[in-house]
Amino acid sequence: MRSAKNGWEENVRKVTPYTPGEQPDRPHMIKLNTNENPYPPAPAVKEAMKSFPMDILRLYPDPAVGRLTCALADYYGLKPENVFVGVGSDDVLATAFLTFFNSKKPILFPDITYSFYDVWANLYQIPYKLQPLDEDFAIVKEDYLQENGGIIFPNPNAPTGVIQKIEFIEDIVKANRNVVVIIDEAYIDFGGESCLPLIEKYENLLVVQTFSKSRSLAGLRIGFAMGHEKLISYLNDVKYSINSYTMNQPSIVLGVESIKEDAYFKETIEKVIATRERSKKKLKELGFSFQDSYSNFIFATHESCPAKELFEALKKQDIYVRYFNKERISDYLRISIGTDEEMDRLFEALSCILKH
Ligand SMILES: *Cc1c(COP(=O)(O)O)cnc(C)c1O
Repeated sequence: MRSAKNGWEENVRKVTPYTPGEQPDRPHMIKLNTNENPYPPAPAVKEAMKSFPMDILRLYPDPAVGRLTCALADYYGLKPENVFVGVGSDDVLATAFLTFFNSKKPILFPDITYSFYDVWANLYQIPYKLQPLDEDFAIVKEDYLQENGGIIFPNPNAPTGVIQKIEFIEDIVKANRNVVVIIDEAYIDFGGESCLPLIEKYENLLVVQTFSKSRSLAGLRIGFAMGHEKLISYLNDVKYSINSYTMNQPSIVLGVESIKEDAYFKETIEKVIATRERSKKKLKELGFSFQDSYSNFIFATHESCPAKELFEALKKQDIYVRYFNKERISDYLRISIGTDEEMDRLFEALSCILKH
């Protein structure tokens, strides 16, 4: 137990950490609990891994992550000065919290959202105020037009999958020019419209994306932020004040390969979207309801069977989905989109459980 009885413990920074989804390792499991991509990374990544120049592991990596930064800048039509790369978007977001959220006024984010945000706010002692989503799990624009010390939310939101249009984002960014607004676009590649074009107009907007979901590279840990060069420069100052060499050599080399193979990237996304749309129909037939999802997961509740029961029954069959024992969403399951075969096994298992 963590009791602060010993003198030294009084001065320990005590935090409640983020709880990631389980990473079970069972032979025939179906893993639909952490929004990973069911398809392998681009073939070019595999090739590059086979011929990886081992000798470069002797050397420190480029602290500026130049090759990957340039490849991303090229891909998105930006200058390298507009791109910051980090160890997954979790690292990028944590650095952004530390860099940009230093006001005494509270930062704002939704009550139902990525559950890392309140962890970072607590860790860095940033005051925050939760803004409740409406009945349909949508973000209420007016909530973000009050005085604040910064704003962050994912678009599409997680774990709801609900997306907002670029005009909606622009209204919030425009009304908050004296703070930094961070839009976490972890799932934007799955059919949503990115607000990236807005960074040319608004220097207070930071757009964060990741290789973990759409690029099937959760294991490499690559995330990035795009924004005005002043934002990026401030992020780099903080990064270089903690650890200069955040990105390891293999991640840099393999990340560049992944960006090169754009046709494969687009094909994989189309497959995930097609399976998602088919899954929406199936889940409805099984008695589930959900808001329309623009991500690689569906956040669903069942008309008669409690989510917790379904979660546990599925787990017994080695089918893993995500359950959050949290107010407002304790009767929902977040189901990542797997391959068609995996989803079929899920639907079979669900129809079996629901019959009993
Ligand atoms: C998955 C996720 C991230 C973090 O992804 P990384 O693997 O750290 O890049 C960030 N934000 C949201 C909303 C996510 O779902």
